[in-house]
Amino acid sequence: MTDRNDTLFDKARQVIPGGVNSPVRAFGSVGGSPRFVTSAQGATITDAAGRTYIDLVASWGPALIGHAHPQVVEVVQDAAARGLSFGAPTEGEVELAELIAGRVVSGEHRPVDRVRLVSTGTEATMTAIRLARGYTGRDLLVKFAGHYHGHSDGLLAAAGSGVATLALPGSAGVPAPIAAQTLVLPYNDLDAVQEAFAVHGDRIAAVIVEASAANMGIVAPLPGFNAALADIAHAHGALLILDEVLTGFRVHPAGFWGLQQAAGETYTPDIFTFGKVVGGGMPLAALGGRAEVMDALAPVGPVYQAGTLSGNPLSVAAGIATLNLATPEVYARVDAASSVLAHALDEALEDAGVVHAVPRAGNLFGLVFRADVPVDYAQAQDQESFRYAPFFHAMLDAGVSLPPSVFEAWFLTAAHDDEVLGRVIDALPAAARAAAGA
Ligand code: PMP
Repeated sequence: MTDRNDTLFDKARQVIPGGVNSPVRAFGSVGGSPRFVTSAQGATITDAAGRTYIDLVASWGPALIGHAHPQVVEVVQDAAARGLSFGAPTEGEVELAELIAGRVVSGEHRPVDRVRLVSTGTEATMTAIRLARGYTGRDLLVKFAGHYHGHSDGLLAAAGSGVATLALPGSAGVPAPIAAQTLVLPYNDLDAVQEAFAVHGDRIAAVIVEASAANMGIVAPLPGFNAALADIAHAHGALLILDEVLTGFRVHPAGFWGLQQAAGETYTPDIFTFGKVVGGGMPLAALGGRAEVMDALAPVGPVYQAGTLSGNPLSVAAGIATLNLATPEVYARVDAASSVLAHALDEALEDAGVVHAVPRAGNLFGLVFRADVPVDYAQAQDQESFRYAPFFHAMLDAGVSLPPSVFEAWFLTAAHDDEVLGRVIDALPAAARAAAGA
């Protein structure tokens, strides 16, 4: 049956490559037409055919407090009435930078003195790497296979997210000499890190790592891994860039780093990157770190970075309102909802006899069609991923919109109340049976 989504997708493909402005939105690995969204409210999205779904994508993370929260919408409308963009500093930027720096704390430990606001997570990580290179005077970068840090040249090697979903080795269009500056190591493998530093230690500017991997499905860092990365990098005069674009302000008020500090794993990243929740659904991201490193950025230091729309007043207004609304109760709600749903997912697949695991990292969780939780990209890819398409479509038919790839996290919001969760849970057994029959 053809509906308005199919018609729009046909039209979109005539004028937009693949019909989408970000590859992860295409139903590439699950088939069918993506839902063209007309509005979103709380825990739901409504598509062009007028159907409303429970949303477990949450704009890929930003919507922590639910879509179109009235207080966020109000401050954005107020900001819009005062002008859309000035290309000049605003008081709001100072307030948001202070809010971010003030959240990334653990007792006396305050690793963020300065914050630079940018517009996307890609810009944040790209800038963080340039900053690390400029600060250390070195070129090489260490990243981990299956980790996604945005689409800048040097970071697409063995990347997660859409690169994983489309099974691409990297990306066309990245010059070989640039790709050669990135050493790609297996995740959670400290021997590989030690070895890379033993060979190239004096040429490595930084290690970049997702605070917890969440773009090859959820693959949590093994206990002590992130702290050991900081130790090894620092012992060789390199920096640790902790990418919290996805995890930051979602899994804990102080990000995944904060969650780890609370659990007793203490370490100090040199640069943090944030995105998604920090902009409350508007284009905004950030990098932050100690003054000595951050002040290598222009106009103080020699590392150049700029943006016409950086610190956009509407985005800043949304970010401030969202962080202020992201109270301990919000995290408690999302944590609880995530536990309930992860458990129900596990049970439904168990009952249907499907080989699976439900990997978790804080309140993030996902699904893998293999018997145990993966620890690296090779294991994450070694699963019966063909089972996801029938599972996904059974959920969609039942009114639940999941990420259209098994390599993505499921995102909850504080608006996913018990009634909403109940509807998701009711849909799981049939979807699990569809996965079993695949
Ligand atoms: N880093 C991580 C860990 C991410 O998950 C993402 C996006 N999913 C990015 C960076 C890039 O952010 P953006 O899509 O805003 O460029």
